[in-house]
Amino acid sequence: MFTQDFKEQPYWWDRSAPPTEQDTELPKKVDVLIIGAGYTGLHAAIQTARGSRNTLVIDAKHAGWGCSTRNGGQVSTSIKPSFSELEKTYGKDMALAIYKEGDKSLQFTGDFIKQENIDCSYAEVGCFHAAHNTAQYEKLARAIEHQAFELQDDAYMIPRSEQRSELGTDTYFGGAIFPKHASIDPAAYHKGLLGKAHEAGANIISYCAAENINRDKNGFTVKTSKGIVQANKVIIATNGYTGSLTPRLQRRVIPIGSYVIATEPVGKDLMDQLMPKNRIVSDTRKVVYYYRPSPDRSRIIFGGRVSLGESDPRLSGPKLHNSLSKIFPELENTKISHSWMGYVAFTFDSLMHVGEEDGLFYAMGYCGSGVGMAGYLGKKLGQQVLGLKQGKTPFNTIKFQTRPLYTGKPWFLAPSLMYYRFIDSLNI
Ligand SMILES: Cc1cc2nc3c(=O)[nH]c(=O)nc-3n(C[C@H](O)[C@H](O)[C@H](O)COP(=O)(O)OP(=O)(O)OC[C@H]3O[C@@H](n4cnc5c(N)ncnc54)[C@H](O)[C@@H]3O)c2cc1C
Repeated sequence: MFTQDFKEQPYWWDRSAPPTEQDTELPKKVDVLIIGAGYTGLHAAIQTARGSRNTLVIDAKHAGWGCSTRNGGQVSTSIKPSFSELEKTYGKDMALAIYKEGDKSLQFTGDFIKQENIDCSYAEVGCFHAAHNTAQYEKLARAIEHQAFELQDDAYMIPRSEQRSELGTDTYFGGAIFPKHASIDPAAYHKGLLGKAHEAGANIISYCAAENINRDKNGFTVKTSKGIVQANKVIIATNGYTGSLTPRLQRRVIPIGSYVIATEPVGKDLMDQLMPKNRIVSDTRKVVYYYRPSPDRSRIIFGGRVSLGESDPRLSGPKLHNSLSKIFPELENTKISHSWMGYVAFTFDSLMHVGEEDGLFYAMGYCGSGVGMAGYLGKKLGQQVLGLKQGKTPFNTIKFQTRPLYTGKPWFLAPSLMYYRFIDSLNI
């Protein structure tokens, strides 16, 4: 099942090794302190440091240790609710504004990578969103047909009879193509962002956990595992790893483990047969599978959720492989070279949230789709800290909900997953 050189760590770390710990001294005072050195934190830092603010980014582990170097490398618009769901809750104008933010986040990510010359295998390969039953195929087709005219969406349907031109399997019932969605090497992207933040003058200190935030007359006094730092403004960029440091935010995000494997190299002919167009792929299940070829098209990177409780990557690996083999029986004897997991941050309304309370800023809750959006909202946060009006986003105006008795530990996860799997087994 596992290759001899199997690694229980992200495949992406082979190309972009995590940064090693450096003996940097914690400054006593900064203009902006950013907690969390993933895409959100680094994009915010690039803005504030380029805006001449003395900027410090800290991370409890190494910079990038969270989702930003562990994800599946699929870049979408990140908006999970359908247009009609949003329209029902917020009205047409707000639904449009949210969808447009999704499009802008995708556009921004590609443009930023090109303009800043970041070497991270960004490719506009398009997404094949596969219908796992006929009812979902019809639902997808209706959603695409009734998309708001103003969005100028270019998505289109692929019937089951033509599916093999997209994906070498008959498991699905057709699907939709989203041509602008892209693939990326997530850790190489993160490494590029680290370089840009450094160049802009930001100080980045790894293995420095924020332990306590105290508001005072000068701004904030933050106790960290490396000492105390004072900051005028603080940005919380901890997403799925948001903890007791910020109890109010912890009550609003639901950390859920997502699991990924990389296969050993599968050979060019087989890859051409299974994934001929190099698309990123996701499916319509509530408990979704997402997969893609590696940037060099040698391996398949396959992710999803395979157990009710959180699991060990050594145990989740074979289960994911089993799911992969059901889609592509040709891969039954292909071994696993890497298996890993990370915590995504779901929210009670399936939307991401941005906010500020007297100098304490945050952006989080990307619901498993934050490669583009986290960077985009990180940039917006940085602009907000600088007091720039272009920093405003519709996400600032949406209430960040919690639920009674929820303190940050999703006790309802197992029963919810059982329910979702049951729904996934029906043709609805
Ligand atoms: C397995 C997996 C697959 C995914 N696949 C995709 C995908 O294909 N496409 C997509 O769009 N999205 C995907 N995502 C989601 C995406 O990776 C995230 O939305 C995005 O990386 C969030 O970035 P971030 O900077 O907000 O958070 P993170 O990158 O998670 O960074 C948060 C950081 O905060 C630090 N931190 C927490 N508490 C403290 C503290 N007290 N003091 C200091 N530091 C602290 C953590 O150590 C961590 O490094 C996936 C996520 C996972 C886990």
